[in-house]
Amino acid sequence: MAATGSASSELPHGSTTTERNNPMSAMMSLHHTAEAQDEACRIFALQRAAVQQQGAPTYQERMAALEALFGSVKQHRHELAASICADFGNRSSAETDFGEIMPVLNSIKHARKHLKGWMKPVRRSVGMAFRPASARIVYQPLGVVGVLAPWNYPLTLTLVPLVEALAAGNRVMIKPSELTPSTSKLLAALLSKIFPEDRVAVILGGSDVAGRFSTLPFDHLFFTGSTSVGRSVMTAASANLTPVTLELGGKSPVVVCRDYPLKKAARLIAIGKLFNGGQSCVAPDYVLAPEDQVDAFAKAFLEAAAEMYPRVAGNADYTSVISDRHHRRLVDMIEDARSAGARVLQHDDTRAAGERKVPPTVLLGVPTNAMAMREEIFGPILPVIGYRDIQQAIELINARPKPLALYCFSNDHRAIDAVLDNTRSGGVTVNGTLLHATQEDLPFGGVGESGTGAYHGRDGFIRLSHARGVMTLSPFNKSDLVAAPYGKLSRFVARLFLGN
Ligand code: NAD
Repeated sequence: MAATGSASSELPHGSTTTERNNPMSAMMSLHHTAEAQDEACRIFALQRAAVQQQGAPTYQERMAALEALFGSVKQHRHELAASICADFGNRSSAETDFGEIMPVLNSIKHARKHLKGWMKPVRRSVGMAFRPASARIVYQPLGVVGVLAPWNYPLTLTLVPLVEALAAGNRVMIKPSELTPSTSKLLAALLSKIFPEDRVAVILGGSDVAGRFSTLPFDHLFFTGSTSVGRSVMTAASANLTPVTLELGGKSPVVVCRDYPLKKAARLIAIGKLFNGGQSCVAPDYVLAPEDQVDAFAKAFLEAAAEMYPRVAGNADYTSVISDRHHRRLVDMIEDARSAGARVLQHDDTRAAGERKVPPTVLLGVPTNAMAMREEIFGPILPVIGYRDIQQAIELINARPKPLALYCFSNDHRAIDAVLDNTRSGGVTVNGTLLHATQEDLPFGGVGESGTGAYHGRDGFIRLSHARGVMTLSPFNKSDLVAAPYGKLSRFVARLFLGN
């Protein structure tokens, strides 16, 4: 098991300020990058050899691996919460419990409960002309799976793919995010205690290490992150014909219908939007509300935010933005909207120095070419846009790439059906936010620009398995009767199935 390489800073392209100002440091970083890459290649070869030599792990071995992971996460959960808090600047242990520890432990419990059934071959039918014979699907491990993970849920987005890859019998190499250096290191240390490096290994490093990691000839590459990096990962993987799962982002809309109680919708949306400081891939990105209710919605949203977070500065429940660069981007986004003519509403604009917090912010009247409507927001900023009728709301959604999530608030089935039937998104929660992503028994993934391939529960097991079709002919099977030289019998058989 390896924990290799230098965890670089938040600056793009893996370079730190020190490295930029100091060529010696930059050379050392390059040296670390090369070292990490050598280590990644060494471990990849080791895991590949183990696949060849040891074959697929048994049900008992997979159950034991899942149990060890469960025990380690449970035992170290406070340590993990503290390191995530340190990496973010501030994140409450409650958010880590609900957003990371519970999803990981639930996914392990679910996999352990269903693994036997998932591993069972599935019987399929045999065409009339080919009987007597039997057909079945046998799920085999793919081999070595690479996992590239983002920073926003540094445990969930590394460990849930790991759980499903292990359940499917694979060996796994993980490259966690460089933006959560303490958590990535702790994860590497914890996993090394329970898994040999030929089963699970962690490679540490910046985007340069990640870029090279994605060129390894994995049997599957599982990437979670931004759409732009997803494109590079898919390009790198294509050189090896490595299949990819891309869990990407996007602008997830919320449609608030006229019939739904406005205050209730505003509170539920505020809960989902402000969880993890708005840094969730499935966070509501913008709200579509009936045009005469836009102001009332904005007021109700900020009141709900104030109830949950009476103040932002010094509030341990309010999560900080991950880095100075990300914080600056969000501040710029608000200023960009303001200078484009938007109204900016905030319930509390007090900030403490060094906390990297952006207060809950509503933007009204944002032009479509403003940054807040061009890019995924990924922070506690919420544009609210008015619509005349449901048809117009649907058109506004469909004018953008297909999002990762969509939310609809209504108790009228016709309105819900109209929104769901006429739009596309990775997943949907009706009358709530985020929650479809927490269900073990629902596939989770994007569509179009928000991703390729889904996981969670059985869908993850299947995604990371090879579904091998196996046909077995019975001793009484007469398929050898149809063979060259084609004579009367062949013509009779052809007529039997095709007619004259
Ligand atoms: P990111 O794309 O910048 O980084 C993700 C991972 O890719 C990191 O480990 C990074 O080191 C690595 N990476 C960076 N450059 C690379 C390259 N050239 N080749 C290969 N790998 C490279 O994403 P992020 O900023 O960490 O996360 C935020 C984004 O992730 C948002 O867009 C969000 O919506 C998305 N996201 C999606 C999901 C989902 O489940 N669909 C979940 C969380 C986050």
